[in-house]
Amino acid sequence: MSNKSGNESNSSSLGRPGGAIYIHIPFCKQACHYCDFHFSTSTKKKSQLVDMLCKELELRKDEIGQNIQTIYFGGGTPSLLNSEELNLIFKTIFTNFQVAENAEITLEANPDDLSEEVIKMLDASPVNRLSIGVQSFFEKDLKLMNRAHNSEEALQSLQLAKQYFDNISIDLIYGIPGQSNEQWIENLETALKLDIPHISSYALTVEPKTALEKFIEKGKVKPVEDEQYREQFDILVNTLTSKGFEHYEFSNYGKPGYHSQNNMAYWLGKPYLGIGPSAHSYDGTFRKWNISNNSLYINSIGAGKLPQQTEELSKTDSYNEFVMTRLRTKFGVSTEDIQEKFGEKYKVHFLKESEKFLEDGLMERTKNIFHITSKGKFLSDGIAADLFFID
Ligand code: SF4
Repeated sequence: MSNKSGNESNSSSLGRPGGAIYIHIPFCKQACHYCDFHFSTSTKKKSQLVDMLCKELELRKDEIGQNIQTIYFGGGTPSLLNSEELNLIFKTIFTNFQVAENAEITLEANPDDLSEEVIKMLDASPVNRLSIGVQSFFEKDLKLMNRAHNSEEALQSLQLAKQYFDNISIDLIYGIPGQSNEQWIENLETALKLDIPHISSYALTVEPKTALEKFIEKGKVKPVEDEQYREQFDILVNTLTSKGFEHYEFSNYGKPGYHSQNNMAYWLGKPYLGIGPSAHSYDGTFRKWNISNNSLYINSIGAGKLPQQTEELSKTDSYNEFVMTRLRTKFGVSTEDIQEKFGEKYKVHFLKESEKFLEDGLMERTKNIFHITSKGKFLSDGIAADLFFID
């Protein structure tokens, strides 16, 4: 079994210093009914696009410090890359950036792509962490969501992946129409039986212009009641924390040593370089995002021009983002940090606005650090919004 580092056993509680590279692979076999990410179901331009990803990496090599701690292939479906394409991207990264020896290198994969041959190919590459899009082990859920895999492939891919990778995360979705609490518990128990060390779990949300939204409008699918989300979230937190997982961010649960360094980089406001159509970047002051169109991206990068828009974050934007992301994590919000990064005005605002949540038992305070309590966890985004500063 490969244990090519990438897990965080030697890192500090606030994650590793240094930057992150995100690579967006904008292709999928078929469109999941709930998905609003950027992807194309035609893979005709895949190899051309990979060439352009490499070119973008070269064009932007000076935008981020030369101490890359995490690399993340997201999508779309990165497991659609073949070994030549993946190796070309790695060669470009290692030629143009200094990557830490124990960097976490994650690739998102869908179960239907993970044959033993593909897993062996990934194991032989610098990838040291797999994030597998299982979503559910029930056939009816997978069909409703139009996932490309079936429940047998979900199980088989994990059994196989475990033979080669130690650092594995899976995605599981709750709040699926028609999903009972018993079925949700069974999904979690299946993951626990397989001894998966990291689970990312999201509520199924109905995004605008998705097939799921249309089905609900037409009455073909019954919308999920708030109660189902709430109950299944509670089941999720209680089940995983009772089995040794730390609930270290609203949607993320890890065994000790298996918290995602890539996610930490985002939440802790570290610089990241986003490569590929629709990818976002952040350097501490500016946020940039690439065009969400494969052909326009290819043409623009081919002509040596970055197809991106830029926004400078104001102090208030940065404060609001800081409060939102930190409240979702185990780190919480430190008023000392607010004072240092944003100044007295923001600290006074935070202290005043958080009072009602402290009184209601939705937040708690230990010295100068504020956390959401178990009672408030499900409401954390709403609580954060109430703490925002409005200019
Ligand atoms: S595989 Fe992922 S990115 Fe592709 S359509 Fe499904 S959810 Fe969206």
